[in-house]
Formats: sequence, C-alpha cells, structure tokens
Amino acid sequence: MAFVITDPCIDTKDTACVDVCPVDCIHPRKDEPEFAQATILYIHPDECIDCGACVPACPVAAIYDAPDSTPASQKTLVEANAIFRTGDPDAVSRAEEIVKAHVASHQDLMQIPAAERAAAHGK
Ligand code: SF4
Ligand code: SF4
Repeated sequence: MAFVITDPCIDTKDTACVDVCPVDCIHPRKDEPEFAQATILYIHPDECIDCGACVPACPVAAIYDAPDSTPASQKTLVEANAIFRTGDPDAVSRAEEIVKAHVASHQDLMQIPAAERAAAHGK
C-alpha cells in the first residue's frame, strides 16, 4: 500500500516531498506540464516504496502512510492519488475533479489554514 497526499497540500504544494522522494513517484513535479494545473500533488501508488521520507518533509502534515490510515474525511483523495495507476494522459484532470468535489463538500476544512488542517481531519 502506498502513502497518500491529502488536503493540506491544497494552497501549499511546495514540492518539499518531491525533493526527498528517492523513487520520484510524486507528481506533477515542477518540471512537468501538469504542475500549474494541479492544486495538490499525488503519489503514484505502484511506484511508492513506503520509505516514509516524505512525511517529515511535508510542512503541513498532508501525507498519510496508507489508505487505511487516511482519515474518513480524506478517503476520496485516496482515489485521486490512485488515478496515477492508469498512466492516462488526462490523469491529472481526473484527479483534480476529485479534489474539486472534495473541496466543495468539505468547506469546513477548507476554512482552516492549511498548516492546521491535518489536526482537524479526525474531528
Ligand atoms: S513514502 Fe517514500 S517512496 Fe513513497 S512517496 Fe513518500 S518519499 Fe516517495
Ligand atoms: S510536502 Fe506536503 S504540502 Fe508540499 S507538495 Fe508535498 S504533500 Fe504537498
């Protein structure tokens, strides 16, 4: 099972996790064309080796260590990350649709500053 990026990455997207990932499985990178379009980054579930290096690197605690440990409020974003399994050229567009729906249905979380959002995931 792979690590999962969740909604504190929205409005943050600083790519600190990309810089430490040893297998380059977090996308889009700054040098990929989809970077501007993406509101958060996504972890390719098949390429992630579960090393855990990205977790302490994230300034807003957006990364969970598995789908099962991802809080209920963030479960739809597991699918957004998993879309990278397909390798489809429109993967980011499809993932972003899921993120937009998540934002629309979690306005309570979106009102919380990104740095404090993870603390509210389980509430
Ligand atoms: S757990 Fe390791 S391999 Fe997986 S996304 Fe994080 S840094 Fe990359
Ligand atoms: S380090 Fe955290 S906030 Fe920054 S891009 Fe990665 S998941 Fe998003």
